[in-house]
Amino acid sequence: MNPFRSLILAAAGSDTVHRVVTAAPATRGVVDRFIAGETVGDAVAATTALAEDGLYVTLDYLGERTGDARQAEQVVQTYLGLLDRLHGEGLTVRAEVSLKLSAVGLRFDEKLALDNAWRVCAAAEQCATTVTLDMEEHDTVDATLRVLAELRHTWPWVGAVLQSYLKRTEADAAALAQADSRVRLCKGAYAASPDVAHKRDHDVDLSYVRAANVLLAGDGYPMFATHDPRLLPLLRERVRFHGRKQGTYEYQMLYGVRPDEQRRLAAEGETVRVYVPFGENSYAYLMRRLAERPANLAFFLRSLASR
Ligand code: FAD
Repeated sequence: MNPFRSLILAAAGSDTVHRVVTAAPATRGVVDRFIAGETVGDAVAATTALAEDGLYVTLDYLGERTGDARQAEQVVQTYLGLLDRLHGEGLTVRAEVSLKLSAVGLRFDEKLALDNAWRVCAAAEQCATTVTLDMEEHDTVDATLRVLAELRHTWPWVGAVLQSYLKRTEADAAALAQADSRVRLCKGAYAASPDVAHKRDHDVDLSYVRAANVLLAGDGYPMFATHDPRLLPLLRERVRFHGRKQGTYEYQMLYGVRPDEQRRLAAEGETVRVYVPFGENSYAYLMRRLAERPANLAFFLRSLASR
């Protein structure tokens, strides 16, 4: 990982930087580019527009940092309200939800996080849609996979996420590449030390392709989350090699990132799902997006300077 990326990811955890960034009204333009809005209504409006363009959606609620059961409950209630609205508007054929277990209590009570995720999954089933558990910092991977395994006893469709920057990921991919298993493969948006993570971008990419091969060779449903113009053709070639038909895998990209490519792939008949974050706490999400690409940071600094 380059020093620039490490620096910004460190700032993502800093309360001081958080206060400075969120106090600046100029950050609004940047926030609007990557985040659908603050309310469930904003999220539903963005979903409707994307669905009209033939895209699929997964919605992520950016709540407050969850430090207690009351905050976790507020997150659950927001997801239940969101699922209800999506169902009411006939959008669950196109939209599912992504859930961060830390937002529903994982950091302080794994059992509570499981119970809360359970309620979200039960509501998703009622609304005829699915849930994917986002993957967060590396020290939460084991707990997230434990919760996933519990949920999958009842709902085999609960999606997992693997991050290719982690050295363990190929083995995790092998364990998850089973029938009905939905697995999102991404590079990973968090900082981690070299004992657990690949540090060179090239090694992260190689690990991505190895894990993609494992998932494509298995019986599950791989979900390739990347915008990387070098990886995408490689994935297309791997899909062909493994004899996968369109509809037995999908591509995923973030809201506001390479929207033309999203529509181009969809026009070719690929299933393309857009990850749509919404909510009042955009700071950590925004910092991870800035860390990924110098051009995003330049865009951010320009919008600050232009005020
Ligand atoms: P990068 O290595 O960041 O970028 C490679 C190239 O892609 C760049 O050189 C550029 O050409 C192109 N590119 C990247 N960003 C842009 C841009 N803004 N505009 C134009 N071109 C761009 N991470 C997690 O840790 N846990 C998760 O649960 C998780 N879920 C995700 C879900 C989805 C749908 C997606 C798309 C990503 C998710 N991520 C998650 C983030 C992911 O791990 C990466 O941090 C992020 O996707 C950037 O990696 P990349 O593969 O796009 O390639």
